[in-house]
Amino acid sequence: MGHPSEPTLQFPTELLIDQQLVRGEGAEEPVLNPATGETLCSVREASAEQVARAVSAASRAWESWSQTTPAERANLLLKLADAVEANAEQFARLESLNCGKPYARALGDEIPAIADCFRYFAGAARCMSGTIAGEYLAGHTSMIRRDPIGVVASIAPWNYPLMMAAWKAAPALAAGNTVVLKPSEQTPLTALLFGRLAADILPKGVLNVICGRGASVGQPLVEHPQVRMVSVTGDVSTGRKILQAASGTLKRTHLELGGKAPVIVFDDANLEEVVAGVRTFGYYNAGQDCTAACRIYAGPKIYDKLVAELSAAVATLKMGTQDEDGVELGPLISDRQRNRVASFVERAQMTGHMEVTTGGKLRQGNGFFYEPTVIAGARKDDEIVRREVFGPVVSVTRFSDAEQVIGWANDSDYGLASSVWTQDVSKAMRVAKQLQYGCTWINTHFMLVNEMPHGGLKSSGYGKDMSMYALEDYTVPRHVMVKL
Ligand code: NAD
Repeated sequence: MGHPSEPTLQFPTELLIDQQLVRGEGAEEPVLNPATGETLCSVREASAEQVARAVSAASRAWESWSQTTPAERANLLLKLADAVEANAEQFARLESLNCGKPYARALGDEIPAIADCFRYFAGAARCMSGTIAGEYLAGHTSMIRRDPIGVVASIAPWNYPLMMAAWKAAPALAAGNTVVLKPSEQTPLTALLFGRLAADILPKGVLNVICGRGASVGQPLVEHPQVRMVSVTGDVSTGRKILQAASGTLKRTHLELGGKAPVIVFDDANLEEVVAGVRTFGYYNAGQDCTAACRIYAGPKIYDKLVAELSAAVATLKMGTQDEDGVELGPLISDRQRNRVASFVERAQMTGHMEVTTGGKLRQGNGFFYEPTVIAGARKDDEIVRREVFGPVVSVTRFSDAEQVIGWANDSDYGLASSVWTQDVSKAMRVAKQLQYGCTWINTHFMLVNEMPHGGLKSSGYGKDMSMYALEDYTVPRHVMVKL
């Protein structure tokens, strides 16, 4: 796969429905390159009839797929992993073009993690465990089964399109469910390529990929009576709408929503590591990450140095287009998202007590670039501290003691990720215990592994991605009792 200007680059635009690659019959949606603002191609969304056909295909396929052995499913998931790897450059190219990500990061960070996700669930499908069968009532043997649920609607966001699709599809398929995957209308390309490859690997109808907007395609998919479970990664407001739509048919839901990660830096933390860590983990993917290290609380003695050194370090981040040498962050996904980020920073500046110590501006010219930004002097109730920005903006707030900062960190609608930075292991463990977040990192942030769960508390949702917990989420425990 070559550079975007080379004629070899093909954009997949066909949906996958019942093993057929078909053009969407709904409205046409332009797909942009956020680094230039130019249209790469357009993808027609699924019509209502195509949504229904995809669900029916998945429902028919479930009859036999749910009866396959874990080993049979594992073998096919391993082939999906191989296909991702064999086409790594094409996937990375499409992802970086469509999201504006640095190509090297898409290829080096995301694709290996995606292939590993399929491999993990291939192994995990064969290793589920549980309560032993036994006589819990005299003369009766009880056993627990964990069975697939049925057709799963998997709805993915635009920030890591293929990785989120993998996090949803891999455990669902491994557990014996069939899937209708809907990528974000803004970033459908890698899911469509994945569908094209999966068509040659999976049995007919086991995976279907349909495109379109939330209102026109997502909503009817969620409401479809043959869909038994809905899994979504997206905004809190989208989670709410999906819960409402799912309530009509009382579907199981799996919600992974936003985040606003607190980063607690005690006075005894290794400043150099904190600065290097936040420089990376606060701005990776241009900060469009629900676990981004965006809400720093700094101890009273380390605060001034942290603000100065972090601002200097963030100013050296290299922003640019996908293939620029040494590029570290790209543009935001859309002009709309950039305006949203800019308006958060403007409102912060208008308060008078906060200072933008680096960044704080749009980059003029093509593409949706926003400079990596540090805002110092933020207070616990400021909007910039409380609301998810989803952009390259980190706020720093001074705290006085552990009890205060734990209270501030937990006083949030979100509960996805958090980190604690200190050289005192006991203090780190005490704080970690009290934080109400799905994940707490100590002296790091943002590191994910397929063996460990990712998911939140409170408004961040309750679905777990990755790990055995995801496999549990995509299965239902059933009791079978035999009278002896
Ligand atoms: P979004 O909520 O706008 O869209 C997510 C997906 O939901 C898209 O595919 C969209 O088409 C679909 N959708 C929207 N409305 C729908 C409806 N009514 N019915 C069915 N589907 C609908 O989110 P986004 O802007 O693509 O992604 C950014 C958001 O995702 C951020 O808020 C971020 O925090 C969150 N996010 C969370 C995690 C996590 O793991 N918790 C990971 C990544 C992103």
